[in-house]
Amino acid sequence: MDPTALQGVPQSVSTGALPGWARVDELVLEAHGRYADDRTGTVADYIPVLAAVDPDLFGLALIEVDGGVHDAGDADHAFSIQSISKLFVYALAIQEHGHERVREIVGVNNTGLAFNSVMALELNGGHPMNPMVNAGAIATTALMPGATAVEQWERLREGLSAFAGRPLSLDGTVYASEAATNDRNRAIGRLLRSYGRLEGDPDEIVDVYTRQCALLVDAHDLAVMGATLADGGVNPVSGAQVVSAEVCRDTLAVAAATGLYERSGEWLFEIGLPAKSGVSGGIVAVSPGKGAVAGFSPRLDHAGNSVRAQLAIAHLSRSLGLNLFASAPAAAQHPGD
Ligand code: GLU
Repeated sequence: MDPTALQGVPQSVSTGALPGWARVDELVLEAHGRYADDRTGTVADYIPVLAAVDPDLFGLALIEVDGGVHDAGDADHAFSIQSISKLFVYALAIQEHGHERVREIVGVNNTGLAFNSVMALELNGGHPMNPMVNAGAIATTALMPGATAVEQWERLREGLSAFAGRPLSLDGTVYASEAATNDRNRAIGRLLRSYGRLEGDPDEIVDVYTRQCALLVDAHDLAVMGATLADGGVNPVSGAQVVSAEVCRDTLAVAAATGLYERSGEWLFEIGLPAKSGVSGGIVAVSPGKGAVAGFSPRLDHAGNSVRAQLAIAHLSRSLGLNLFASAPAAAQHPGD
């Protein structure tokens, strides 16, 4: 579809509100408690240092667009953001370059292949198909403004920190562990370059990408970052306008289609929210106009998605009425109207 065909048509927004703070808090604690003993799944080990994490950690956080905070369990345990960074770097790229330019460089469709697939790029003539998997994410990182890779990294770190509402720092151990083993990502960077899809030195861009994945966050931070995307780009805790409302809409659309690796369709079917997960065990799900929920638990399913974070977010999507596709007949809700 040609997006210019909609020029001048005003963007109305989705509606609805969360129940009061106390009820939300009760449900967050209930969702955490209900899955606390689940031991299903295995911890990621392809980045060697990730395998050393305590697998029993389990944090859950919900941040409302009015700044209301709900933290449960290990919501303040720091872990490397990994792939979840892709969501926010994509938002920064659209903010910088605009909807159409970024759309030309990186597509918005699911590849149906693994997140680090080289084949997805080859099958598509070197055009990255989406920004939530490595090829598209590396091309997106290359769009960060700056004359050098160091400047691009600083801009990126500042941007993600603005989403979190506090300065984010690098986990040097995770960065070193991944930098020593990321031949595949370097291959993707060079392949992008060979297709003329990447400006600059591919190894330097992949280094910035590796750093972005090693930024430390906790579940509370992720929920604040997600709530910023739920709140038209305003961080509900710091009050800063981080990106525009249009950028949030674009970013969340891509997250809905592609945020949970090869399980994105199943996730949307069961939970009905745009979300992004990462191999260190985090997931953030965004409810536009209401807030965001983030879970952290290191045991993953086969696609690389945290098992307990999925369960807890699914619980809240259902109990708080967050699923974007759920409705009930109006006549049954207001009998006699
Ligand atoms: N840094 C990881 C990689 O590029 C991210 C993996 C992920 O969380 O999906 O392989």
